[in-house]
Amino acid sequence: MLKASNIQKSYGNLSILKGVDFTIGKGEIVSIVGASGAGKSTLLHIIGTLDRADKGELYIDDIAIHKLSAKELSAFRNKYIGFVFQFHHLLPEFTALENVCIPAYIAGTKTDVAEKKAMELLDLLGVSERANHKPSQLSGGEQQRVSVARALINNPKIILADEPSGNLDSENAAALHKLFFDLRKSMGHTFVIVTHNEDLANISDRTIHMKDGNIY
Ligand code: ADP
Ligand code: ADP
Repeated sequence: MLKASNIQKSYGNLSILKGVDFTIGKGEIVSIVGASGAGKSTLLHIIGTLDRADKGELYIDDIAIHKLSAKELSAFRNKYIGFVFQFHHLLPEFTALENVCIPAYIAGTKTDVAEKKAMELLDLLGVSERANHKPSQLSGGEQQRVSVARALINNPKIILADEPSGNLDSENAAALHKLFFDLRKSMGHTFVIVTHNEDLANISDRTIHMKDGNIY
């Protein structure tokens, strides 16, 4: 599903990723762990095509990501990748349903089709009764479920998450982790998750350890 070789990235003179190699199979749930500053977020951004490596090759589903133009990259990203962040980044002035629909609208989906799909996802994630609430009216766990629904609306193959349970209490964190495994089982998603949560790292199929821009 995903193959990276010799990925290098520097900011100015500072080498952040020093030639990273890994492969991730379809339907795998992989955690990336390591100390703050190790380069985890930078690597996740490169896998997510939000950022480009200076050097190295990245293939996703045999597509040579490192060869795509900026325009091709953004089309690829919309279709293939869903993002979940530590802070949900829901837009406060829109309802849960509207927030979930936004990536679909950006991809050109019609309103009624997007709303139907968004309601199905909110239902799947157990927050359909919150569809018309604004983010401020939702609990932290509910907000994160809405943000997962938003990540899923364009049917991505890969979900990338940066500290998805970092802002949740242990009960909501466990529920979110279970959700990831349920989604993998029902829809076959591949998950790459940067996390400090030991429970999540322990239940993952595999853990990638990062230190000072290298993988162990
Ligand atoms: P981690 O996610 O493991 O904490 P990051 O990938 O966020 O690590 O950051 C690794 C290093 O790269 C840090 O020293 C960080 O300050 C630096 N860094 C990340 N993004 C940038 C950027 N856009 N410009 C300059 N330095 C950056
Ligand atoms: P997180 O830890 O939640 O991944 P960060 O605070 O590390 O978030 O980074 C947030 C954003 O700022 C990222 O896009 C990262 O690339 C960028 N960034 C991180 N460190 C630096 C830095 N030293 N200079 C510029 N941008 C940075």
